[in-house]
Amino acid sequence: MALARRLLLAASRSAWLARQLRQRAFLRRAVRRFLPGEEPEAALAAAAGLSQVGLGAVLTQLGEQVALEAEAQAVRDHYFELLDRVREGALGAELSIKLTQLGLDTDRAACARDVAALARHAARAGSFLWIDMEESRYVDPTLALLREVLAAGPRVGVCLQAYLRRTPADLEALWPLGPAIRLVKGAYNEPAAVAWPRKRDVDRAYAELAARLLEHTPQGVRAVFGTHDLHLIARIRAQAAALALAPGAYEIHMLYGIRANEQRALAREGCRVRVLISYGSAWFPWYMRRLAERPANLWFVLRNLV
Ligand SMILES: Cc1cc2nc3c(=O)[nH]c(=O)nc-3n(C[C@H](O)[C@H](O)[C@H](O)COP(=O)(O)OP(=O)(O)OC[C@H]3O[C@@H](n4cnc5c(N)ncnc54)[C@H](O)[C@@H]3O)c2cc1C
Repeated sequence: MALARRLLLAASRSAWLARQLRQRAFLRRAVRRFLPGEEPEAALAAAAGLSQVGLGAVLTQLGEQVALEAEAQAVRDHYFELLDRVREGALGAELSIKLTQLGLDTDRAACARDVAALARHAARAGSFLWIDMEESRYVDPTLALLREVLAAGPRVGVCLQAYLRRTPADLEALWPLGPAIRLVKGAYNEPAAVAWPRKRDVDRAYAELAARLLEHTPQGVRAVFGTHDLHLIARIRAQAAALALAPGAYEIHMLYGIRANEQRALAREGCRVRVLISYGSAWFPWYMRRLAERPANLWFVLRNLV
């Protein structure tokens, strides 16, 4: 399984493979499990459907590491329009963005301005802006940009990855700034020097960070647990109850198409749950990462071959 995971993560970085496979019908059918459609309309419709069963949504257009400023500007403009549609539909859906898709590598200053402007627009639309965390070389630039945006005023959230050895220190450093935090395990292929290589160490790191978030997140600041790990979720809920935290004091976020029944069950039991819905045509690297998280998903791809 570790080998399958490494191969899939290597595949996620291959532009050649993406070109070869993206148009194959069997793969397009298989990816539908995690992606309601490539168009934003499909994501908005999925968000509306989820809201009817008590689930919130977070929307993200797939894509990362754009090479041209014009591409980053197109992504920014797309998100402005999407926020208008979220407001018109009174959907309350939030956005999650990747800084490298908004030009972090091409024009950092413009990227920071655009993120701050999107965060303000999100607030006006009754929405909220989350910043994804990408590969480890982007952690310092991401946190530096986050600090700038927070200093300029708008509230934003950031994802932290439990598999990184540095994350406990990053969390401590972020407390005084009070950003919303979404804790995840981490989805990229990282060297052992920077990330825990064994799953059980990642799970332990996640549990420790989750406990700190529950104990120390100030009132009014959002603590989000982005995971499908039901053992961890049970532990988080038990700890929250032991700390007598109000039901809205923390949230569980999951990905569209994963543990859909549990998402509904948690919402019925009073948990705040949001579902991250991806859309867009650049799904190949992202889908390889979803397969790497659970190589058994490959059977699902193979079933779509026949
Ligand atoms: C809301 C949200 C936002 C995220 N944002 C980021 C980000 O910004 N940066 C980043 O690096 N990562 C991000 N991730 C991905 C994350 O890092 C993990 O790779 C992913 O969530 C799988 O880990 P897990 O916590 O579910 O635990 P795991 O131990 O991997 O999985 C627990 C169980 O969940 C189920 N499961 C998990 N993944 C899958 C799958 N792909 N298909 C089917 N079943 C599955 C399986 O039953 C598995 O046994 C995000 C995840 C979520 C839910």
